Amino acid sequence: MNGFDYSVATDVDALLQQMAAPGAAAVDASKLIAGGTNLLDLMKENLVRPRQIVDLNRLPPQAIERLPDGAFRLGALARNAATAYHPELREQLPLLSTAILAGASAQIRNMASNGGNLMQRTRCHYFYDAGVPCNKRAPGTGCPALDGLARQHAIVGASDHCIATHPSDMCVALAALEAVVHVRSVRGARQIAFADFHRLPGDQPELDNTLAPDELIEAIVVPPSQHYAAHSAYLKLRERLSYAFALVSVAAALDLDADGRIRSARIALGGVAHKPWRDPSAEALLVGAPATTASFDRAAAQLLQGAQAQGVGPGSNAFKIPMARRAVVRALATAALGTVTNTGDNLP
Ligand code: SF4
Repeated sequence: MNGFDYSVATDVDALLQQMAAPGAAAVDASKLIAGGTNLLDLMKENLVRPRQIVDLNRLPPQAIERLPDGAFRLGALARNAATAYHPELREQLPLLSTAILAGASAQIRNMASNGGNLMQRTRCHYFYDAGVPCNKRAPGTGCPALDGLARQHAIVGASDHCIATHPSDMCVALAALEAVVHVRSVRGARQIAFADFHRLPGDQPELDNTLAPDELIEAIVVPPSQHYAAHSAYLKLRERLSYAFALVSVAAALDLDADGRIRSARIALGGVAHKPWRDPSAEALLVGAPATTASFDRAAAQLLQGAQAQGVGPGSNAFKIPMARRAVVRALATAALGTVTNTGDNLP
């Protein structure tokens, strides 16, 4: 067990000053904790050894608010469960509610914060094994997944340095709904489009996102999306029905006219890349098209253009390429029939 100092943040400005202090950004110098549903795993595995833990749970940004323009402002410290079960949000953003409820377990969702959901690290099993090299954990040491077990790994957007995937369900829906991440530091506030928040691994797989070390997530704002409320679906395919990360997941939303033709569409994939995977050119193919399997398959093919299998032998994830294509078609077809709101835990 590694010893660490523990402190409770009660004032955002004071916390930002602390985060901007010289040396504060050093690896393992200090870690922020909210729900702790990922950080404590990392500490137990001895992968992260912070000298200080700063508890955020007394800070104010914990509310889920409706803004005057109809957008939802999700406080960074609001719990995943409180977000998923917020009555107005469930009605207006069923895609987001359903995606959150597809993740983890009821107990974890009760603890996990919205900001923490964005910041969680990959569940690549090599990353969690301190006995093997890993470019994300220790840059330059190598990536055993490239020649190993890659069922959970990426088929799009990967690099020779890392083929890990982002594990979140919530973030897949937030990507489809074009959320905006509001962050703050001593230098001021800024907004990050969700598509730009998480990053592809490239030659710096140790960086999961574009948040600066001294920046704090204050809120996630989801713009008004009522026109997608009636036709959305979150489909999650995994190794077992409950409490497992996605092999492939799809957040799909359609805006249909009275004749059943598609006015606009949103599709994002989880479990296939280092970030939620979205390609507006695939969605553009659906505009004006009938809501048919043929239309959906064209969009799926475009979304998965350039997909490549990783791993070798029985560890290969080649199966995920056709699986993802069929999952996109099925999720869009389900959305076209009408939204079915998830009312319980881990419904497929
Ligand atoms: Fe590490 Fe990424 Fe390779 Fe996994 S895929 S072992 S996280 S470098």
